[in-house]
Amino acid sequence: MPLCFSLKLQSNPTDHLNSFSTYQTYSVKDQIVRLANEPSTVNWMKSVRREMHENPELSYEEFETSALIRRELEKLGVAYKWPVAKTGVVATIGSGSPPFVALRADMDALPIEEMVDWENKSKVEGKMHACGHDGHVAMLLGAAKILKQLQDTLQGTVVLIFQPAEERGVGAKDMIEEGVLDNVEAVFGMHIVLDYPTGVVGLRPGEFLAGCGSFKAKIHGKGGHAAIPQQSIDPILAASTSVISLQSIVSRETDPLDSQVVSVAVIKAGSSFNVIPESATISGTFRAFSKKNFKGLMNRIEEVVKGQAAVHRCSAEVEFLGKEHPTIPPTVNDERIYEQVRGISSEIVGEENIQLAHTSMGSEDFAFYLDKVPGFMLFLGTRNEKIGAIHAPHSPNYIIDEDVFPIGAAIHAAFAHSFLSDSTVKLHLHNF
Ligand SMILES: [Zn+2]
Ligand SMILES: [Zn+2]
Repeated sequence: MPLCFSLKLQSNPTDHLNSFSTYQTYSVKDQIVRLANEPSTVNWMKSVRREMHENPELSYEEFETSALIRRELEKLGVAYKWPVAKTGVVATIGSGSPPFVALRADMDALPIEEMVDWENKSKVEGKMHACGHDGHVAMLLGAAKILKQLQDTLQGTVVLIFQPAEERGVGAKDMIEEGVLDNVEAVFGMHIVLDYPTGVVGLRPGEFLAGCGSFKAKIHGKGGHAAIPQQSIDPILAASTSVISLQSIVSRETDPLDSQVVSVAVIKAGSSFNVIPESATISGTFRAFSKKNFKGLMNRIEEVVKGQAAVHRCSAEVEFLGKEHPTIPPTVNDERIYEQVRGISSEIVGEENIQLAHTSMGSEDFAFYLDKVPGFMLFLGTRNEKIGAIHAPHSPNYIIDEDVFPIGAAIHAAFAHSFLSDSTVKLHLHNF
Protein backbone atom coordinates (compact mmCIF):
# COMPACT_ATOMS: atom_id res chain seq x y z
CA MET A 1 0.00 0.00 0.00
CA PRO A 2 1.39 3.43 -0.81
CA LEU A 3 2.59 5.48 2.10
CA CYS A 4 0.28 8.35 1.28
CA PHE A 5 -2.73 6.15 1.82
CA SER A 6 -1.62 5.02 5.27
CA LEU A 7 -0.73 8.57 6.21
CA LYS A 8 -4.25 9.67 5.44
CA LEU A 9 -5.52 7.31 8.08
CA GLN A 10 -3.23 8.92 10.63
CA SER A 11 -4.32 12.45 9.83
CA ASN A 12 -5.85 14.31 12.69
CA PRO A 13 -9.54 15.04 12.13
CA THR A 14 -9.31 18.06 14.40
CA ASP A 15 -7.37 19.78 11.58
CA HIS A 16 -10.73 20.09 9.92
CA LEU A 17 -12.72 21.34 12.91
CA ASN A 18 -12.77 24.92 11.61
CA SER A 19 -15.80 23.97 9.55
CA PHE A 20 -18.48 21.69 10.89
CA SER A 21 -19.56 20.51 7.45
CA THR A 22 -15.96 19.86 6.42
CA TYR A 23 -15.47 17.91 9.61
CA GLN A 24 -18.52 15.77 8.88
CA THR A 25 -17.34 15.13 5.33
CA TYR A 26 -13.91 14.24 6.59
CA SER A 27 -15.41 11.90 9.13
CA VAL A 28 -17.27 9.95 6.46
CA LYS A 29 -14.16 9.83 4.27
CA ASP A 30 -12.21 8.57 7.26
CA GLN A 31 -14.74 5.79 7.81
CA ILE A 32 -14.66 4.88 4.11
CA VAL A 33 -10.87 4.66 4.10
CA ARG A 34 -10.90 2.60 7.30
CA LEU A 35 -13.54 0.20 5.93
CA ALA A 36 -11.69 -0.12 2.62
CA ASN A 37 -8.50 -1.09 4.43
CA GLU A 38 -9.96 -3.67 6.78
CA PRO A 39 -7.81 -6.76 6.17
CA SER A 40 -10.88 -8.97 5.66
CA THR A 41 -12.18 -6.60 2.96
CA VAL A 42 -8.80 -6.31 1.23
CA ASN A 43 -8.32 -10.10 1.23
CA TRP A 44 -11.86 -10.66 0.00
CA MET A 45 -11.37 -8.22 -2.91
CA LYS A 46 -8.15 -10.02 -3.84
CA SER A 47 -9.76 -13.45 -3.68
CA VAL A 48 -12.74 -12.35 -5.82
CA ARG A 49 -10.37 -10.84 -8.36
CA ARG A 50 -8.22 -13.97 -8.46
CA GLU A 51 -11.26 -16.21 -8.94
CA MET A 52 -12.27 -14.01 -11.86
CA HIS A 53 -8.73 -13.98 -13.19
CA GLU A 54 -8.60 -17.77 -13.31
CA ASN A 55 -11.87 -17.94 -15.25
CA PRO A 56 -11.80 -15.17 -17.84
CA GLU A 57 -14.85 -14.83 -20.09
CA LEU A 58 -15.08 -12.82 -23.30
CA SER A 59 -17.64 -10.13 -24.14
CA TYR A 60 -21.21 -11.32 -23.60
CA GLU A 61 -20.00 -14.69 -22.33
CA GLU A 62 -19.57 -13.48 -18.73
CA PHE A 63 -22.03 -16.01 -17.26
CA GLU A 64 -19.81 -17.36 -14.47
CA THR A 65 -18.43 -13.90 -13.78
CA SER A 66 -21.96 -12.60 -13.44
CA ALA A 67 -22.86 -15.49 -11.10
CA LEU A 68 -19.78 -14.74 -8.99
CA ILE A 69 -20.77 -11.08 -8.67
CA ARG A 70 -24.34 -12.02 -7.69
CA ARG A 71 -23.06 -14.54 -5.15
CA GLU A 72 -20.93 -11.88 -3.47
CA LEU A 73 -23.70 -9.27 -3.56
CA GLU A 74 -26.03 -11.76 -1.90
CA LYS A 75 -23.47 -12.37 0.84
CA LEU A 76 -23.38 -8.62 1.40
CA GLY A 77 -27.18 -8.42 1.46
CA VAL A 78 -27.19 -6.04 -1.50
CA ALA A 79 -30.23 -6.11 -3.81
CA TYR A 80 -29.63 -6.44 -7.54
CA LYS A 81 -31.31 -6.81 -10.89
CA TRP A 82 -30.20 -9.47 -13.37
CA PRO A 83 -29.85 -10.14 -16.22
CA VAL A 84 -29.43 -6.67 -17.66
CA ALA A 85 -27.98 -6.80 -21.18
CA LYS A 86 -27.54 -10.58 -21.09
CA THR A 87 -24.96 -10.98 -18.29
CA GLY A 88 -24.96 -7.56 -16.61
CA VAL A 89 -25.85 -7.02 -12.95
CA VAL A 90 -27.24 -3.78 -11.50
CA ALA A 91 -27.19 -3.48 -7.71
CA THR A 92 -28.65 -0.72 -5.55
CA ILE A 93 -27.73 0.51 -2.08
CA GLY A 94 -29.35 3.34 -0.12
CA SER A 95 -32.76 4.85 0.41
CA GLY A 96 -34.25 3.55 -2.85
CA SER A 97 -35.31 7.14 -3.57
CA PRO A 98 -33.75 9.93 -5.64
CA PRO A 99 -31.18 11.21 -6.16
CA PHE A 100 -29.51 8.28 -7.91
CA VAL A 101 -25.79 8.15 -8.63
CA ALA A 102 -24.16 5.33 -10.63
CA LEU A 103 -20.78 3.58 -10.28
CA ARG A 104 -19.61 1.31 -13.07
CA ALA A 105 -17.24 -1.64 -13.52
CA ASP A 106 -16.73 -3.67 -16.69
CA MET A 107 -16.23 -7.43 -16.41
CA ASP A 108 -15.11 -9.00 -19.70
CA ALA A 109 -11.73 -10.51 -20.59
CA LEU A 110 -9.70 -10.67 -23.81
CA PRO A 111 -8.79 -13.38 -26.35
CA ILE A 112 -5.15 -13.42 -25.19
CA GLU A 113 -3.05 -16.35 -23.92
CA GLU A 114 -1.65 -15.44 -20.51
CA MET A 115 2.17 -15.56 -20.38
CA VAL A 116 2.49 -14.73 -16.67
CA ASP A 117 3.32 -17.76 -14.53
CA TRP A 118 1.66 -17.36 -11.17
CA GLU A 119 -0.66 -19.26 -8.86
CA ASN A 120 -3.86 -17.75 -10.22
CA LYS A 121 -2.97 -17.82 -13.91
CA SER A 122 -5.89 -18.06 -16.37
CA LYS A 123 -7.19 -21.61 -16.57
CA VAL A 124 -8.84 -20.96 -19.92
CA GLU A 125 -6.70 -21.40 -23.00
CA GLY A 126 -6.49 -18.29 -25.13
CA LYS A 127 -8.40 -16.04 -22.70
CA MET A 128 -7.06 -13.60 -20.15
CA HIS A 129 -8.01 -10.64 -17.98
CA ALA A 130 -5.39 -8.40 -19.56
CA CYS A 131 -7.19 -5.06 -19.15
CA GLY A 132 -7.77 -5.12 -15.40
CA HIS A 133 -11.53 -5.62 -15.56
CA ASP A 134 -11.21 -8.31 -12.87
CA GLY A 135 -9.71 -5.60 -10.66
CA HIS A 136 -12.50 -3.19 -11.60
CA VAL A 137 -15.13 -5.70 -10.42
CA ALA A 138 -13.22 -6.36 -7.18
CA MET A 139 -13.02 -2.63 -6.42
CA LEU A 140 -16.70 -2.02 -7.15
CA LEU A 141 -17.66 -4.96 -4.93
CA GLY A 142 -15.38 -3.40 -2.31
CA ALA A 143 -17.31 -0.15 -2.69
CA ALA A 144 -20.58 -2.10 -2.34
CA LYS A 145 -19.36 -3.54 0.94
CA ILE A 146 -18.33 -0.12 2.26
CA LEU A 147 -21.54 1.59 1.15
CA LYS A 148 -23.68 -1.18 2.59
CA GLN A 149 -22.10 -0.52 5.97
CA LEU A 150 -22.80 3.19 5.58
CA GLN A 151 -26.21 2.87 3.98
CA ASP A 152 -28.06 4.70 6.77
CA THR A 153 -26.00 7.79 5.97
CA LEU A 154 -26.69 7.73 2.22
CA GLN A 155 -28.94 10.61 1.16
CA GLY A 156 -30.23 8.82 -1.93
CA THR A 157 -29.41 5.67 -3.87
CA VAL A 158 -26.19 4.30 -5.32
CA VAL A 159 -26.58 2.21 -8.49
CA LEU A 160 -23.71 -0.24 -9.05
CA ILE A 161 -23.38 -1.22 -12.70
CA PHE A 162 -21.48 -4.44 -13.50
CA GLN A 163 -21.32 -4.19 -17.25
CA PRO A 164 -20.52 -6.81 -19.91
CA ALA A 165 -18.75 -6.46 -23.25
CA GLU A 166 -16.64 -3.32 -22.83
CA GLU A 167 -13.90 -4.73 -25.04
CA ARG A 168 -16.36 -5.04 -27.92
CA GLY A 169 -17.56 -1.50 -27.26
CA VAL A 170 -21.20 -2.47 -27.01
CA GLY A 171 -21.90 -3.30 -23.34
CA ALA A 172 -22.50 0.22 -22.04
CA LYS A 173 -24.81 1.06 -24.91
CA ASP A 174 -26.87 -2.07 -24.34
CA MET A 175 -27.06 -1.45 -20.59
CA ILE A 176 -28.32 2.08 -21.25
CA GLU A 177 -30.97 0.73 -23.62
CA GLU A 178 -32.13 -1.50 -20.78
CA GLY A 179 -32.59 1.56 -18.59
CA VAL A 180 -29.63 1.53 -16.18
CA LEU A 181 -29.32 5.31 -16.35
CA ASP A 182 -33.02 6.02 -15.82
CA ASN A 183 -33.25 8.75 -13.13
CA VAL A 184 -29.46 8.65 -12.62
CA GLU A 185 -27.99 12.13 -12.11
CA ALA A 186 -24.30 11.30 -12.47
CA VAL A 187 -22.10 8.34 -13.38
CA PHE A 188 -18.57 7.52 -12.26
CA GLY A 189 -16.02 4.96 -13.40
CA MET A 190 -12.32 4.25 -13.28
CA HIS A 191 -9.73 2.29 -15.24
CA ILE A 192 -6.56 0.95 -13.70
CA VAL A 193 -3.52 1.93 -15.74
CA LEU A 194 0.19 1.21 -15.79
CA ASP A 195 1.13 4.81 -16.57
CA TYR A 196 1.27 5.75 -12.88
CA PRO A 197 2.63 4.05 -9.75
CA THR A 198 0.09 2.30 -7.55
CA GLY A 199 -2.24 4.78 -5.89
CA VAL A 200 -1.53 7.74 -8.17
CA VAL A 201 -4.72 9.14 -9.65
CA GLY A 202 -4.84 10.64 -13.16
CA LEU A 203 -7.65 13.12 -13.75
CA ARG A 204 -8.61 15.16 -16.76
CA PRO A 205 -11.59 17.47 -17.01
CA GLY A 206 -13.30 17.77 -20.38
CA GLU A 207 -12.05 15.89 -23.45
CA PHE A 208 -10.15 12.82 -22.24
CA LEU A 209 -10.24 9.76 -24.53
CA ALA A 210 -10.75 9.77 -28.27
CA GLY A 211 -13.92 8.65 -29.93
CA CYS A 212 -13.36 5.62 -32.10
CA GLY A 213 -15.31 5.06 -35.25
CA SER A 214 -15.10 2.67 -38.13
CA PHE A 215 -16.53 3.13 -41.58
CA LYS A 216 -17.17 0.92 -44.52
CA ALA A 217 -17.91 2.39 -47.94
CA LYS A 218 -19.20 0.34 -50.82
CA ILE A 219 -18.72 1.96 -54.21
CA HIS A 220 -20.91 0.67 -57.00
CA GLY A 221 -19.89 0.87 -60.67
CA LYS A 222 -20.62 -1.33 -63.65
CA GLY A 223 -18.52 -4.41 -64.34
CA GLY A 224 -17.09 -5.31 -67.70
CA HIS A 225 -14.02 -6.18 -69.75
CA ALA A 226 -10.93 -4.36 -68.53
CA ALA A 227 -9.76 -3.93 -72.14
CA ILE A 228 -12.99 -2.10 -73.08
CA PRO A 229 -13.26 0.39 -70.20
CA GLN A 230 -15.73 2.67 -72.01
CA GLN A 231 -18.41 0.03 -71.52
CA SER A 232 -17.82 -0.14 -67.76
CA ILE A 233 -17.98 2.23 -64.82
CA ASP A 234 -14.83 1.61 -62.82
CA PRO A 235 -15.36 1.48 -59.00
CA ILE A 236 -11.63 0.88 -58.39
CA LEU A 237 -10.75 4.31 -59.75
CA ALA A 238 -13.44 5.90 -57.54
CA ALA A 239 -12.16 3.93 -54.52
CA SER A 240 -8.58 5.03 -55.23
CA THR A 241 -9.38 8.72 -55.43
CA SER A 242 -11.58 8.34 -52.32
CA VAL A 243 -8.60 7.01 -50.35
CA ILE A 244 -6.45 9.95 -51.44
CA SER A 245 -9.16 12.54 -50.80
CA LEU A 246 -9.94 11.11 -47.36
CA GLN A 247 -6.37 11.94 -46.34
CA SER A 248 -6.98 15.62 -47.03
CA ILE A 249 -9.68 15.82 -44.33
CA VAL A 250 -7.14 15.72 -41.50
CA SER A 251 -4.20 17.30 -43.37
CA ARG A 252 -6.11 20.23 -44.92
CA GLU A 253 -9.35 20.77 -43.02
CA THR A 254 -8.51 20.37 -39.34
CA ASP A 255 -6.44 22.28 -36.81
CA PRO A 256 -2.95 20.69 -36.70
CA LEU A 257 -2.99 21.17 -32.91
CA ASP A 258 -6.21 19.21 -32.53
CA SER A 259 -5.43 15.50 -32.96
CA GLN A 260 -7.63 13.59 -35.37
CA VAL A 261 -7.09 10.47 -37.46
CA VAL A 262 -8.65 9.04 -40.60
CA SER A 263 -7.07 5.80 -41.84
CA VAL A 264 -8.18 3.54 -44.65
CA ALA A 265 -7.09 0.06 -43.63
CA VAL A 266 -8.91 -2.24 -46.04
CA ILE A 267 -9.47 -2.13 -49.82
CA LYS A 268 -11.37 -4.95 -51.46
CA ALA A 269 -12.19 -5.13 -55.17
CA GLY A 270 -11.88 -7.38 -58.15
CA SER A 271 -10.75 -10.94 -58.64
CA SER A 272 -9.32 -11.08 -62.14
CA PHE A 273 -6.73 -9.00 -64.04
CA ASN A 274 -9.01 -8.46 -67.01
CA VAL A 275 -12.35 -7.77 -65.33
CA ILE A 276 -13.51 -4.40 -64.03
CA PRO A 277 -15.54 -5.37 -60.95
CA GLU A 278 -19.08 -4.30 -60.14
CA SER A 279 -18.07 -2.76 -56.84
CA ALA A 280 -15.18 -1.85 -54.52
CA THR A 281 -15.16 -1.61 -50.74
CA ILE A 282 -12.93 0.54 -48.57
CA SER A 283 -12.98 0.58 -44.79
CA GLY A 284 -11.03 2.14 -41.99
CA THR A 285 -11.12 4.00 -38.71
CA PHE A 286 -11.39 7.57 -37.51
CA ARG A 287 -10.61 9.18 -34.15
CA ALA A 288 -11.24 12.57 -32.55
CA PHE A 289 -11.44 14.04 -29.04
CA SER A 290 -14.47 16.27 -29.25
CA LYS A 291 -17.99 15.25 -30.12
CA LYS A 292 -18.08 18.10 -32.65
CA ASN A 293 -14.93 16.92 -34.46
CA PHE A 294 -15.99 13.31 -34.26
CA LYS A 295 -19.32 14.09 -35.90
CA GLY A 296 -17.51 16.36 -38.34
CA LEU A 297 -15.24 13.49 -39.45
CA MET A 298 -18.24 11.22 -39.96
CA ASN A 299 -19.96 13.81 -42.13
CA ARG A 300 -16.86 14.53 -44.21
CA ILE A 301 -15.97 10.84 -44.74
CA GLU A 302 -19.43 10.28 -46.15
CA GLU A 303 -19.34 13.44 -48.30
CA VAL A 304 -15.86 12.73 -49.66
CA VAL A 305 -16.54 9.11 -50.60
CA LYS A 306 -19.91 9.92 -52.15
CA GLY A 307 -18.42 12.94 -53.95
CA GLN A 308 -15.50 10.96 -55.35
CA ALA A 309 -17.84 8.17 -56.40
CA ALA A 310 -20.01 10.71 -58.25
CA VAL A 311 -16.96 12.22 -60.02
CA HIS A 312 -16.30 8.79 -61.49
CA ARG A 313 -19.99 8.07 -62.29
CA CYS A 314 -20.33 5.59 -59.44
CA SER A 315 -22.63 5.57 -56.43
CA ALA A 316 -21.60 4.86 -52.84
CA GLU A 317 -23.05 3.78 -49.50
CA VAL A 318 -21.19 4.65 -46.34
CA GLU A 319 -21.91 2.70 -43.16
CA PHE A 320 -20.77 3.75 -39.69
CA LEU A 321 -22.55 1.45 -37.31
CA GLY A 322 -21.81 -2.23 -37.42
CA LYS A 323 -22.25 -4.75 -34.64
CA GLU A 324 -18.64 -5.87 -35.08
CA HIS A 325 -16.95 -2.49 -34.96
CA PRO A 326 -19.27 -0.11 -33.16
CA THR A 327 -18.70 3.60 -33.07
CA ILE A 328 -17.70 4.81 -29.59
CA PRO A 329 -18.05 8.53 -28.89
CA PRO A 330 -15.25 10.57 -27.26
CA THR A 331 -15.01 10.27 -23.47
CA VAL A 332 -15.71 13.77 -22.19
CA ASN A 333 -15.52 14.27 -18.42
CA ASP A 334 -17.86 16.72 -16.77
CA GLU A 335 -15.89 19.75 -15.60
CA ARG A 336 -18.09 20.38 -12.53
CA ILE A 337 -17.85 16.79 -11.32
CA TYR A 338 -14.08 17.01 -11.89
CA GLU A 339 -13.80 19.40 -8.95
CA GLN A 340 -15.60 16.95 -6.70
CA VAL A 341 -13.61 13.92 -7.90
CA ARG A 342 -10.38 15.85 -7.47
CA GLY A 343 -11.25 16.80 -3.92
CA ILE A 344 -12.20 13.26 -2.94
CA SER A 345 -9.20 11.68 -4.63
CA SER A 346 -6.73 14.06 -3.02
CA GLU A 347 -8.23 13.36 0.41
CA ILE A 348 -7.76 9.64 -0.17
CA VAL A 349 -4.37 9.45 -1.92
CA GLY A 350 -2.91 12.84 -1.00
CA GLU A 351 -2.58 15.92 -3.20
CA GLU A 352 0.95 14.88 -4.20
CA ASN A 353 -0.46 11.75 -5.85
CA ILE A 354 -2.88 13.57 -8.15
CA GLN A 355 -1.80 14.12 -11.74
CA LEU A 356 -3.34 15.74 -14.77
CA ALA A 357 -3.98 12.79 -17.09
CA HIS A 358 -2.91 13.05 -20.72
CA THR A 359 -5.44 12.69 -23.48
CA SER A 360 -5.27 9.29 -25.15
CA MET A 361 -6.23 7.93 -28.56
CA GLY A 362 -7.60 4.82 -26.80
CA SER A 363 -11.37 4.62 -26.41
CA GLU A 364 -13.71 3.49 -23.63
CA ASP A 365 -17.33 2.55 -23.96
CA PHE A 366 -17.91 4.45 -20.69
CA ALA A 367 -18.29 7.34 -23.15
CA PHE A 368 -21.83 6.13 -23.88
CA TYR A 369 -22.83 6.80 -20.27
CA LEU A 370 -21.22 10.24 -20.42
CA ASP A 371 -23.21 10.94 -23.56
CA LYS A 372 -26.40 10.52 -21.52
CA VAL A 373 -25.61 11.96 -18.09
CA PRO A 374 -22.81 14.06 -16.57
CA GLY A 375 -20.03 11.98 -15.08
CA PHE A 376 -16.36 11.24 -14.78
CA MET A 377 -13.83 8.54 -15.55
CA LEU A 378 -10.45 8.57 -13.85
CA PHE A 379 -7.25 6.58 -14.27
CA LEU A 380 -5.88 4.81 -11.22
CA GLY A 381 -2.20 3.83 -11.26
CA THR A 382 -1.24 0.22 -10.60
CA ARG A 383 2.36 0.27 -11.78
CA ASN A 384 4.81 -1.53 -9.48
CA GLU A 385 8.22 -2.46 -10.89
CA LYS A 386 8.94 -4.71 -7.89
CA ILE A 387 6.26 -7.21 -8.90
CA GLY A 388 6.62 -6.74 -12.66
CA ALA A 389 3.44 -4.66 -13.01
CA ILE A 390 4.87 -2.68 -15.92
CA HIS A 391 3.21 -4.07 -19.05
CA ALA A 392 0.56 -2.14 -20.93
CA PRO A 393 -3.06 -3.34 -21.00
CA HIS A 394 -3.78 -6.07 -23.58
CA SER A 395 -0.26 -7.49 -23.12
CA PRO A 396 0.02 -11.25 -22.40
CA ASN A 397 2.45 -10.23 -19.62
CA TYR A 398 -0.06 -7.89 -17.98
CA ILE A 399 0.14 -7.81 -14.17
CA ILE A 400 -1.67 -5.51 -11.76
CA ASP A 401 -0.71 -4.49 -8.26
CA GLU A 402 -3.59 -5.61 -6.06
CA ASP A 403 -2.63 -3.07 -3.40
CA VAL A 404 -4.61 -0.63 -5.50
CA PHE A 405 -7.92 -2.28 -4.56
CA PRO A 406 -8.67 -0.50 -1.26
CA ILE A 407 -7.82 2.82 -2.90
CA GLY A 408 -10.16 2.22 -5.84
CA ALA A 409 -12.94 0.94 -3.59
CA ALA A 410 -12.59 3.96 -1.31
CA ILE A 411 -12.66 6.44 -4.22
CA HIS A 412 -15.76 4.76 -5.67
CA ALA A 413 -17.56 4.81 -2.32
CA ALA A 414 -16.45 8.34 -1.44
CA PHE A 415 -17.60 9.70 -4.79
CA ALA A 416 -21.06 8.16 -4.46
CA HIS A 417 -21.44 9.18 -0.83
CA SER A 418 -20.34 12.75 -1.34
CA PHE A 419 -22.33 13.20 -4.54
CA LEU A 420 -25.50 12.24 -2.69
CA SER A 421 -24.57 14.47 0.25
CA ASP A 422 -23.31 17.51 -1.62
CA SER A 423 -26.30 19.55 -2.64
CA THR A 424 -24.12 22.12 -4.40
CA VAL A 425 -22.95 19.59 -7.00
CA LYS A 426 -26.51 18.42 -7.62
CA LEU A 427 -27.74 22.01 -7.84
CA HIS A 428 -25.11 22.84 -10.46
CA LEU A 429 -26.04 19.81 -12.51
CA HIS A 430 -29.70 20.78 -12.46
CA ASN A 431 -28.76 24.17 -13.82
CA PHE A 432 -26.92 22.57 -16.68
ZN1 LIG B 1 -9.16 -3.30 -22.85
ZN1 LIG C 1 -10.37 -1.91 -20.18
